[in-house]
Amino acid sequence: MKQKIAIYPGSFDPVTNGHLDVINRALRIFDKVIIAVGDNPEKKALFNVEERLEMLNSITNSLKNIEIDNFTGLMIDYAKKKNADVIIRGLRAVSDFDFEFQRALMNRNIDENIETIFIMTAGEYCFLNSSIVKEMVRFGGSVKGLVPIEVERALNKKLN
Ligand code: ADP
Repeated sequence: MKQKIAIYPGSFDPVTNGHLDVINRALRIFDKVIIAVGDNPEKKALFNVEERLEMLNSITNSLKNIEIDNFTGLMIDYAKKKNADVIIRGLRAVSDFDFEFQRALMNRNIDENIETIFIMTAGEYCFLNSSIVKEMVRFGGSVKGLVPIEVERALNKKLN
């Protein structure tokens, strides 16, 4: 039987425990999960792509059936190139829904065969996103338990 490949695309600027939660849930369902860091020049990122990849590699090195990669351009083209069956997106609250709904339908319009699947995060991470984490650290707050320790260190180094 063909292996089921899922792509989890995002900015991961930086990766949080919410992302990790989605990754672990996806690994229970799919044979392989490709975490794909989008390099979007329109978005001003705190960490460059190499730094984001390095953090992802370091925190997932004990996980099996995972690939970390980056892409530029249209995500759906990248998904096709990687032979993906599924695109994974995380859902936190209703506020995510509109944008994600639009994007999923647009992607389906381009390729009917790649399905977008939403994974709900654990309740404790439903308020969490990379921007909040950056803001917290910038103003001296603690992000313990919200991001892996390597990420916490990288944030402190970059922002303080
Ligand atoms: P993007 O710029 O594509 O939104 P992000 O890195 O912010 O990239 O998010 C990547 C994916 O992970 C998105 O589907 C987002 O909804 C999801 N995500 C981010 N934070 C969380 C979280 N705390 N719980 C669940 N999903 C999350």
